[in-house]
Amino acid sequence: MKTLLPTSTAGSLPKPSWLAQPETLWSPWKLQGQELVDGKKDALRLILDDQIQAGIDIVSDGEQTRQHFVTTFIEHLNGVDFEKREIVRIRNRYDASVPTVINAVARMKPVFIEDAKFLRQQTKQPIKWALPGPMTMIDTLYDNHYKSREKLAWEFAKILNQEAKELEAVGIDIIQFDEPAFNVFFDEVNDWGIAALERAVEGLKCETAVHICYGYGIKANTDWKKTLGSEWRQYEEIFPKLQQSSIDIVSLECQNSRVPMDLIELIRGKKVMVGAIDVATNDIETPEQVADTLRKALQFVDADKLYPSTNCGMTPLSREIARGKLNALSAGAAIVRNELLGK
Ligand SMILES: [Zn+2]
Repeated sequence: MKTLLPTSTAGSLPKPSWLAQPETLWSPWKLQGQELVDGKKDALRLILDDQIQAGIDIVSDGEQTRQHFVTTFIEHLNGVDFEKREIVRIRNRYDASVPTVINAVARMKPVFIEDAKFLRQQTKQPIKWALPGPMTMIDTLYDNHYKSREKLAWEFAKILNQEAKELEAVGIDIIQFDEPAFNVFFDEVNDWGIAALERAVEGLKCETAVHICYGYGIKANTDWKKTLGSEWRQYEEIFPKLQQSSIDIVSLECQNSRVPMDLIELIRGKKVMVGAIDVATNDIETPEQVADTLRKALQFVDADKLYPSTNCGMTPLSREIARGKLNALSAGAAIVRNELLGK
């Protein structure tokens, strides 16, 4: 990136109300058949336009074609039975009815490549594309085949690598893996989680990112956050190993969070997508609040490696609020950019 402090979002953005029920996770589609295919494309163009109007530098599809950041990818794979469901505890936090792995998992066809190609045709700006990370994928399934979290994660990593290589080939600039599970299962992250992630990025020439957050602003997550005490030091457990990994960019939650900013020092050398927008509140940050967070981060990240971003995806928010937050992010980044450039 030639731009100083290039802005981006963590991933999902709200869908138009004619496509899916707003402010809802796993929201059902309102269209069917060809209308749904066309509607997703229209939504993708709209959300791209929202980002461009707000002055976001690294744009995305806002996950307009997916119902959920993990489930939609898994739905396209073989080996998982969505009819056969079991109750499991997701990220040690809440129980959910999840599909069952009944056979060897495999990717028989591309998942997002057509969507990515379509987005590439719409813009010359850098594009970031999000995929679920291997550890977060296994955490939303009941495994009745491999019976090993590590083995299943490794199989998913190989599948993700196939998809990532094709995303790179159609011109995606940054491929991001969403790993909120990295904030929960520290021992596994260090034992094999980061290794699985590196398997997923093997051979890629484009930039790679990992997004590690405290989740969407839904009740199960905000309740969990209340139990974490006054300082959130989860990142401390995994940053030393992540610093040693081949991943280029680490995307983090920093706005209104209790993560001590100095933990970022542990990944010195990496590019850091600093979450300067809180996705768990409808209050729109002021540009000055965004700038404050970025200035604090600059104590621990070199300016050329600081990428202002959002804490997490914004799909549970209204479009109006999300647009306000995109504008605030852009304006806040501009304040600090001008300070750095001595304007
Ligand atoms: Zn997130």
